[in-house]
Amino acid sequence: MTFTSRFAPSPTGPLHLGHAYSAIVAHDMARASGGRFLLRIDDLDQSRARPHWEQQIYDDLTWLGLTWDGPVRRQSDHFAEYEATIAQLAAQGLTFTCQCSRRDIEAAANAPQEGVPEFGPDGRIYPGTCRHRALPASDATCTRLDMTRACIRGLPAAFTETGPAHRGQHALSQQDLETTIGDVVLARRNMAASYHLAVVLDDAATGVTHAVRGEDLFDATRIHVLLQNLLGLPTPTYHHHALVRDDSGKRLAKRDDARAIAKYREEGATPADVRALVGL
Ligand code: GLU
Repeated sequence: MTFTSRFAPSPTGPLHLGHAYSAIVAHDMARASGGRFLLRIDDLDQSRARPHWEQQIYDDLTWLGLTWDGPVRRQSDHFAEYEATIAQLAAQGLTFTCQCSRRDIEAAANAPQEGVPEFGPDGRIYPGTCRHRALPASDATCTRLDMTRACIRGLPAAFTETGPAHRGQHALSQQDLETTIGDVVLARRNMAASYHLAVVLDDAATGVTHAVRGEDLFDATRIHVLLQNLLGLPTPTYHHHALVRDDSGKRLAKRDDARAIAKYREEGATPADVRALVGL
């Protein structure tokens, strides 16, 4: 299989040095293996995605000297596929409808117990309030994966990671997914799919063999690997790279406009300067 990596930014703000690092690492790995480097526009959140940010992604990457193969995939072109997949999981009894607000979840959460995490990759771990309520779809604000049933149906044994911090095989266990992740959201009333569902379908549809992305997504990988197995999709090799941090050690965020690639570009920096700034 041809080595295939991708860069998948959201067009909700300017790309910054952290994005540059991620894109360059994924690009260079593909080029070094004679493989493909894909670009995807992760515009699931239509309330925040803007065409001018998407255009700036193309401009920034081109300026950095990165080239991508094949057409750009845009998530907003695939909402019907995401919905069909959720319907398929629902038909297998692996989902439930939920109407809990963030505040409901907080109020229903059990008192913190020693050794049991309160938060997972998606924030506060869902306490299960709606799991057996069989709410009509019209009352639901989101659809969740029933983690216990999903694990029983198809938890794979492990996934492979090649990134520096967690290199190796990572075994999966039902108890771990139940207690540290819980019933994650697959779709919301105003969003056709959650990031987890979309990323799994997108990577599979585009033949991604190596999912290269920031270390902050490592904990969510177990959700992706479970969904791939439930849906009969291949699991890529994962490579979570270190995050670019500011001088105080905080990871860069979208609002760090001061670190925007466009800003360096306007100020006369060269792509080589940007590579050097991020340590590449
Ligand atoms: N759109 C995601 C992000 O910006 C990337 C997801 C991924 O690489 O899996 O964090």
